[in-house]
Amino acid sequence: MSEDSNTASCLFCRIIAGEIPAKIVRQDDRAVAFEDVNPQAPTHVLVVPRQHIGTLNDLTVQQEALVGHLIAMARDIARERGHAEAGYRTVFNCNAAAGQTVFHVHLHLLGGRTLSWPPG
Ligand code: 5GP
Ligand code: ZN
Repeated sequence: MSEDSNTASCLFCRIIAGEIPAKIVRQDDRAVAFEDVNPQAPTHVLVVPRQHIGTLNDLTVQQEALVGHLIAMARDIARERGHAEAGYRTVFNCNAAAGQTVFHVHLHLLGGRTLSWPPG
């Protein structure tokens, strides 16, 4: 899949482009964080790269720092919302067996309740 903007077919590219509304939490030149439309915890934010990357399988060596940036942005939001001390979860689902439904890499940030482990 193309690593460039894919606004014709990709839901998250369309959100990034402002074509589909979303509650933006934080953004910068590389990433956008917005509220998940179907939250699974009091905090459920998706952190996505502006660049279209389909799944973690498509990630190049050059994009590894970008993934670190997504994690740091999720960490900052968790801290801002007071979850740092109690704890929170960050998850990348990759492909069908993990339940990935939107094929634009996204980091889930879940916090504000006790999360069980192992996940379903
Ligand atoms: P996945 O299952 O691919 O790891 O996660 C996709 C996530 O995107 C789900 O948690 C789902 O609720 C969320 N989602 C799907 N469509 C939309 C949408 O139109 N807007 C927002 N904000 N989130 C969405
Ligand atoms: Zn996309």
